[in-house]
Amino acid sequence: MKEPAGTGDGTIRLRGVGVSGGIAIGRALVLEGPDVAIFRLDLPPGKADGEVARFQRAVRRAWRQLRDLRDRVRNEAGEAYGRVFEAQILILRDRALHQETASLIRREHVNAEWAFHTVVGRYTQVFSQLGDQALRDRGTDIEDVEARVQAILTGSRKRHDLSELTEDVIVVSATLCPSDAAGLNRERVIGLAIDGGGPTSHTAVIASALGIPAVAGLRDASTRVRTGDFLVLDGSEGVLLNNPGEEETASWRDRRTRLAQRELDLMMLRDQPAVTQEGVRVRLQANIELVEELLAARRFGAEGIGLYRSEFLYVRKAPGFPDEEEHYRTYRELAENALPNEVVIRTLDLGGERYVSTLLERREPNPVLGLRGIRLCLRREDMFRTQIRGILRAAAHGKVRMMFPMISVLDELRRARAIVNEVKRDLLAQRVPCDPDVPVGIMIEVPAAALTADLLAREVDFFSIGTNDLIQYALAIDRGNESVAYLYQPLHPAILGLVRRVVDAAERAGVRVSVCGEMAASPVAAVMLAGLGVTELSMNPAAIPPVKQVIRAIRMADARALVEETLRLDTPAAIEALARRRVSELVPAEPAAALGSRP
Ligand code: PEP
Ligand code: MG
Repeated sequence: MKEPAGTGDGTIRLRGVGVSGGIAIGRALVLEGPDVAIFRLDLPPGKADGEVARFQRAVRRAWRQLRDLRDRVRNEAGEAYGRVFEAQILILRDRALHQETASLIRREHVNAEWAFHTVVGRYTQVFSQLGDQALRDRGTDIEDVEARVQAILTGSRKRHDLSELTEDVIVVSATLCPSDAAGLNRERVIGLAIDGGGPTSHTAVIASALGIPAVAGLRDASTRVRTGDFLVLDGSEGVLLNNPGEEETASWRDRRTRLAQRELDLMMLRDQPAVTQEGVRVRLQANIELVEELLAARRFGAEGIGLYRSEFLYVRKAPGFPDEEEHYRTYRELAENALPNEVVIRTLDLGGERYVSTLLERREPNPVLGLRGIRLCLRREDMFRTQIRGILRAAAHGKVRMMFPMISVLDELRRARAIVNEVKRDLLAQRVPCDPDVPVGIMIEVPAAALTADLLAREVDFFSIGTNDLIQYALAIDRGNESVAYLYQPLHPAILGLVRRVVDAAERAGVRVSVCGEMAASPVAAVMLAGLGVTELSMNPAAIPPVKQVIRAIRMADARALVEETLRLDTPAAIEALARRRVSELVPAEPAAALGSRP
């Protein structure tokens, strides 16, 4: 079939965030945004109870729809996608949401649409104010649930039906809720361009699990593109072009072919071990935040989960907390589905840029240096114990390790371990099934912890170096501040020195050490880390194949020699340039530029 083409007149170039890799070239299908205006209507006297009943009927119907959708998606696409709707079902069943809506209807004598919208608005506002994009993305689920209930209440809004498409399209939309994304026809939808959202939204997770190129955060794309426009979308770089000319389109087609071939080559590596030329085994694991990401982890060949960030469990429940059963169920699912591999569950790391006001006593002037991670957990022991109980119980169902974030001093580690021991004793006394021998480790992400790694190593089972924060704290640059992003240099001699110190301390004490910061996702940095003695790396799932490719191409001796050579250099730029050059010599098929951007 002949592919469509653009004329090149007045090409529009839009930039967003690439959330699912790959290039799509084709015609646009612009979805209309939610179009129900919600009005406040005063109820006639005596009608409040009837209105509450109408609301409850709508919720029940929405619940049935979601359950059917979950079952259908589970059958068609697999267990993991079904779980997206599990999250929405939980939201819909949230008692506080029902009670607050019913009492608003009764108190103010208003219509159900308005009352529900007002109550949901309070929740979505909490999410929209969160500093962390990943957490903000969770708000989309609540909006999706609201749209469903409102559609039932008003009886007017037709939800998009993307399962009946008959030609290839790139879907362009202001927001694309998870139910729309899951309902799309995988044969026909070749790309997704979304105004809002971010890399960890459920929509992004689904797109990447389905292997559909997607760009989010495009701001006003849906108003600047018309259905039928000719588009090029690059889901790796986060670019959308509307109506590119023939020459430009031809070069994108070439790129697409090359990329597809490279993807194929990399995916062929999926079942190959990550082993160096002289036979040293390197363990490559995935960092995930949602249980459904396990699927992507498996698709890219991860050998288990090196970092499960448990924050979402809490954020989904904000302003409340998850209870023990929720912790247990989630971790058990993770542990069982990861088998025969292991899962490292990190205890709560809220605080800092992941500011959740309800957990803190007061607003902090410098939250990144404030009551974050283990500090917050030791302040809120009740909450911490609940999580530990959940982890120890789930550990009976798989290979689980437990890890504390943001440890800066031995006392914190000792206190946290004492709590784990107390919880263990309670569980055993109550005859609750659990694994009392769960290995306990810590993140090394505060420079003080790296510098005293030998003291900490005596009292842990493993270290995981969190370079995202280690770089932030060691180099004094806010990891989310674009103005100082140029100083974010993983190959800074200070960082290499800290990593070496931690690895040496771990080796002397005989404890495992891994790196789970994004630095591990860069093939060049991964070789440097291997040269420093790190043979366990955890990263976002899609980064695994290219890292595996370089690991299989190098010899450890060369990686060590490279590290020695770079340590004689004095600037991060010189180190990076040399490392890139050497790695591209070791992996000749790969031009240096393709080895990942800044690590
Ligand atoms: C890190 O700091 O490197 C890390 C992996 O943790 P997070 O990115 O969740 O802070
Ligand atoms: Mg961190």
